[in-house]
Amino acid sequence: MDKEIKELQEAISKLKEEKGAVILAHYYQRREIQEVADYIGDSLELSRRAASLPVGVIVFCGVHFMAETAALLSPEKRVVLPDLEAGCPLADMATPEEVRLRREALGHPLVVCYVNTSAAVKGESYICCTSANAVEVVGKLPEEAAVLFLPDRNLGAYVKGFYPQRAIFLWPGYCPVHEGVEAEDILRLKELHPRAKVLVHPECKPSVVELADKVASTSGMVKYVRESGAGEFIVATEKGILHHLAKVYPEAKFYLASPRLECPDMKKITLEKCYKSLLTLEPRVQVPPSVRERARRAVERMLRL
Ligand code: SF4
Repeated sequence: MDKEIKELQEAISKLKEEKGAVILAHYYQRREIQEVADYIGDSLELSRRAASLPVGVIVFCGVHFMAETAALLSPEKRVVLPDLEAGCPLADMATPEEVRLRREALGHPLVVCYVNTSAAVKGESYICCTSANAVEVVGKLPEEAAVLFLPDRNLGAYVKGFYPQRAIFLWPGYCPVHEGVEAEDILRLKELHPRAKVLVHPECKPSVVELADKVASTSGMVKYVRESGAGEFIVATEKGILHHLAKVYPEAKFYLASPRLECPDMKKITLEKCYKSLLTLEPRVQVPPSVRERARRAVERMLRL
């Protein structure tokens, strides 16, 4: 099995060079995918990387909205997603029609969309944000403006906690993976590892966020491990990140907060599909020009901050 993986990885590396392609992989990807990637990061880091790299082909190992964001920022490049079925249930919880209706019903608040949305929803939004900068993005909006935050209610509630006086309306979406962690999971692990620091992604429920030593995006977690000086960590985000953390910080110990922290969509990307994508440069992800300009505006507003 290991031999098969190794052979496929070697074939991918060779083909990648032949095609002049770069492989980008999200922290939640399978270990063997992370091993063949040129860059590993969170969705925004990878999209920015895609835009700045002087290559014509990007194989994006992640889920659909991530490849779409990369295509949005670099329409001249060929962005390939090895499995078009790798979606994000959270992103699917808001459609552009629903956003238009809700915005109208609420008297036209500023729409702040999490990066986990389709390009069409980004096109209906004033500004985009990530889990790393959501608090900052909302803080930079005019104080008197009401905000509709979508689609993640847990991230929205976390942001709202920083601005209790502001009118912030929350969308009822959630990530089924992060929502699966319970406060009891953390408390149980805390008993077993009392010295461990608790790292929680803000897509988790507020009752879990409350128990965190650090609430952070995936890239924020990697940074916290580097800077905290601690040796043990309970990690409440998708399990794929443990591979990266263990590789970069081999002396530290990491405990996954719950066995439910596995995203089936992220795991749809396999080495075989990655190889096939490189061979055919399909399936390509593109954003229609009619959507692109408006969606890009929301993302660029965020990048300017
Ligand atoms: S972990 Fe959650 S937010 Fe991330 S891709 Fe999977 S379902 Fe979407």
